[in-house]
Amino acid sequence: MSATLGIILKELNPEITIQIFEKLDQPGLESSDAWNNAGTGHSAFCELNYTPQKADGSIDILKALKICQDYEVSREFWAYLVEKGYVKDPSTFIQSVPHMSFVWGKDNIEYLKKRHQLLTDNVLFKGMSYTEDRDLVKQWMPLIMNKRDAKTPVAATSMSIGTDVNFGALTRQMIDKLASMPGVTVHYNIEVEDIDPYKKGGWIVETKSMITGKDEDCITKFVFIGAGGATLHLLKDAEIKERKGYGGFPVSGLWLKCNNEELIKQHNAKVYGKASVGAPPMSVPHVDTRMIDGKKELLFGPFAGFSTRFLKTGSRLDLAKSFRIDNVLPMISAGLRNVPLTRYLIEQVRLSHEDRVEALKEYVPSATKGDWELKQAGQRVQVIKKDEGVRGKLEFGTEAVVAADGSVAALLGASPGASTAAAIMFSILPKCFKKESKSEAWQAKLKEMSPSFGQALAKDEQMVHATRARTSKILGLK
Ligand SMILES: Cc1cc2nc3c(=O)[nH]c(=O)nc-3n(C[C@H](O)[C@H](O)[C@H](O)COP(=O)(O)OP(=O)(O)OC[C@H]3O[C@@H](n4cnc5c(N)ncnc54)[C@H](O)[C@@H]3O)c2cc1C
Repeated sequence: MSATLGIILKELNPEITIQIFEKLDQPGLESSDAWNNAGTGHSAFCELNYTPQKADGSIDILKALKICQDYEVSREFWAYLVEKGYVKDPSTFIQSVPHMSFVWGKDNIEYLKKRHQLLTDNVLFKGMSYTEDRDLVKQWMPLIMNKRDAKTPVAATSMSIGTDVNFGALTRQMIDKLASMPGVTVHYNIEVEDIDPYKKGGWIVETKSMITGKDEDCITKFVFIGAGGATLHLLKDAEIKERKGYGGFPVSGLWLKCNNEELIKQHNAKVYGKASVGAPPMSVPHVDTRMIDGKKELLFGPFAGFSTRFLKTGSRLDLAKSFRIDNVLPMISAGLRNVPLTRYLIEQVRLSHEDRVEALKEYVPSATKGDWELKQAGQRVQVIKKDEGVRGKLEFGTEAVVAADGSVAALLGASPGASTAAAIMFSILPKCFKKESKSEAWQAKLKEMSPSFGQALAKDEQMVHATRARTSKILGLK
């Protein structure tokens, strides 16, 4: 997130000076690292959690439309990075991997069929195929159909233009580029400890070296807090009134990683299923082909784990430290309103390796426990925000919190997150750089970085085809 905003700002105003503080010794090692997230270029083509079914049976596709458009913005921004030579080889971070949905049972099949009809009415989703034909499903996902019970009906959708993204590799290349730009300094092993108002206007960012223990202050007009799960703490420190009522609930992720090369070869898709009852939307199981540092991998998950840390490298006290007078009631209320989630998490934490392989067998019936090992994913801190009165609600998306005067912006939450980073960052600019954002120079540069940002892409067939054709060519996608 910070790397994306840094490049955008530097392109808009080459004179700007930027200090980036990273507490680890490299960038992109927390949630953005390839092994810590699912690497989905979220377009909502086949992730069923973005098209929830309402109580009356209807399907809400609004979120899917928004995510799909936002992902086109990311593709445009990444194509811009490649064209400018900021990222040399797009295959180091993005690959074509078909996205698919797979369901079984009458109700789920009806849902998937209806979802397909609704989505393919829109140009963004044209080209998505639907089938209940087992032979065709077998061609699409042989590993998933191998040894599957022949009596249970199945259905699947497939979108060939899906992508797998190594967000860690992309982050590291963007930060390397930023570090080489005049006026930008990237500091490693430096932790931001506090953000306080500066008496002459702006902010004092208080930092500490993780190596020498030395404290140093940085005075600035604008601060972006892009500290992943730790953003909530720093937002609290900044003491802006907009932070009030926000809390967070950490959910850690676990994968089953395949170590059998033959199985890895047989699967070539990101296949999404339906979340079980009570499961949070981000726990939708998927059987994922990944390309990580030049090697094809196969992951299943995520399973949920529980840790009170807000970062993988965070402190066990993170959750306790996040309680404050203004968020304690919303946090307790959100807990009470999400009993099925709590129950689900308790069940997940108690799973043994054998239990997890049983869950995998619903998707890969031929799975054997020796072929799969457990791997820790990243930490997500789900946003809890004040609802009516003192009530709190748990959110599963991302949320940008911006101070009224635009001098501080922070990004909370997780999903779809990295995939839509460019659109999220473009949308905070008018709030943080009000005057500059309206200038002709900024408007022209913004158009260059993302021609479709702010356009009603979902209603413009010609633009969808044009942007996809252009970015596919530049990014080396099918
Ligand atoms: C299991 C899982 C699966 C996911 N799957 C997907 C997916 O398929 N597609 C998708 O788009 N998104 C996915 N996400 C979400 C995605 O990973 C995040 O949206 C994205 O990586 C967030 O980027 P970030 O820059 O905000 O945070 P991070 O990548 O976590 O970076 C924050 C950085 O801040 C540093 N930091 C923290 N505190 C301080 C401090 N006080 N001082 C200095 N530095 C600090 C950290 O060391 C870290 O480098 C997933 C997340 C998880 C956990």
